[in-house]
Amino acid sequence: MPLLVMKFGGTSVADLGRIRNAAEKVKREVERGYDVIVIVSAMSGKTNELVAWVEQTSPLYDAREYDAVVSSGENVTAGLMALTLQEMDVPARSWQGWQVPINTTSAHASARFVSIPRDNIEAKFREGFRVAVVAGFQGLSPEGRITPLGRGGSDTTAVAFAAAFGAERCDIYTDVDGVYTTDPRIAKKARKLDRIAFEEMLELASLGAKVLQTRSVELAMRYKVRLRVLSSFEDSDENSGTLVCDEEDIMESKVVSGVAHSRDEAKMTLLKVADRPGIAAAIFGPLADAGVNVDMIIQNISEAGFTDMTFSCPTNQVKRAEKAIADARAAGAFAFGELVVDDDVAKVSVVGIGMRSHAGVAATMFRALARENINIKVITTSEIKISVLIDRKYMELAVQALHDAFELDKAA
Ligand code: ADP
Ligand code: ASP
Ligand code: MG
Repeated sequence: MPLLVMKFGGTSVADLGRIRNAAEKVKREVERGYDVIVIVSAMSGKTNELVAWVEQTSPLYDAREYDAVVSSGENVTAGLMALTLQEMDVPARSWQGWQVPINTTSAHASARFVSIPRDNIEAKFREGFRVAVVAGFQGLSPEGRITPLGRGGSDTTAVAFAAAFGAERCDIYTDVDGVYTTDPRIAKKARKLDRIAFEEMLELASLGAKVLQTRSVELAMRYKVRLRVLSSFEDSDENSGTLVCDEEDIMESKVVSGVAHSRDEAKMTLLKVADRPGIAAAIFGPLADAGVNVDMIIQNISEAGFTDMTFSCPTNQVKRAEKAIADARAAGAFAFGELVVDDDVAKVSVVGIGMRSHAGVAATMFRALARENINIKVITTSEIKISVLIDRKYMELAVQALHDAFELDKAA
């Protein structure tokens, strides 16, 4: 029988009524003749609540126990979804990650898939079950511990199942009806895209567009999964939502196709570090060892043998970064004058495959920000994106200004 993967995010399973609404969509696909693997998130807000409980109980928590608590919200929705389907006369069974088992690496809070054996679920389909409901976000480490896949990880669970089972399509049901030119909650003029290229979606996701977890896009690209984003609150057909696909399958070609933002960024500057070979390794080695995700890095021009080193990381990693730097300094790894922390910044980025062959995007971007009197603190570029750090209070304004400057409300 043909198989579909359908993933429902937190707002789509936020209460029993919404679970029923999602189950009705699943039932419709079963009636069309599909076997379905349903991936569910925790009810919206649940995972945040669990994270807060862990942090209140133990600020420097044991990673294994964090993982055990934070991944548990999905167990509830998986069971409730299976029960709801059974009440609708759809034969369904739920699975927690370890029961499949979803084998992953053992990295804390950001494990990666190793394998998903099909036997257990296929055996149930052969018995006549039509739906396997799988708790998203959860993996099983080689040591037998639960391993969450990072925030937003149920998207990645869904794509991994679609790849492992050769699903016809992987449908990601969420609270917006597709991928937009920018977050529709910030820019009213945001325009829904019928299609977006994997590369662009990958950049948008990694630059903060929450709609898909970055890793899910990577996996879909590698395993050629037909990946679609659509609304769980509207009726849908084959043409609904946004299809994430190869660049060749897209007619529309704009130089810039989207604007992304990431709210919780911090900028840290080490003033007066010695400008010598090995200094960057001495600074960023201990930060990496401490699990700090360093994003942008700039080293200033040096003067009299000294330089300043600036980097950015997520706001909630500032404490960890400060400690890693203080410990490394105490151990004599490097010396510096002062550490200046600005944890009130946001990152705004423009993305587009067309940038590969078009000049002038940076100038248009900087002009648009200048018109709004927004000061740029850090700039980084890559082949298909330009990112800037700015004061957080200007983030929405910057997103709207850039959306206007590149006329993203108009189709190509
Ligand atoms: P779910 O709980 O279903 O996984 P998420 O909250 O993780 O949903 O992702 C959906 C949200 O992503 C939307 O509500 C929207 O605010 C946000 N978002 C950010 N950028 C975009 C974009 N370019 N297109 C669509 N949604 C976006
Ligand atoms: N519940 C997890 C989170 O909030 C995973 C997910 O929803 O994708 O990050
Ligand atoms: Mg999500």
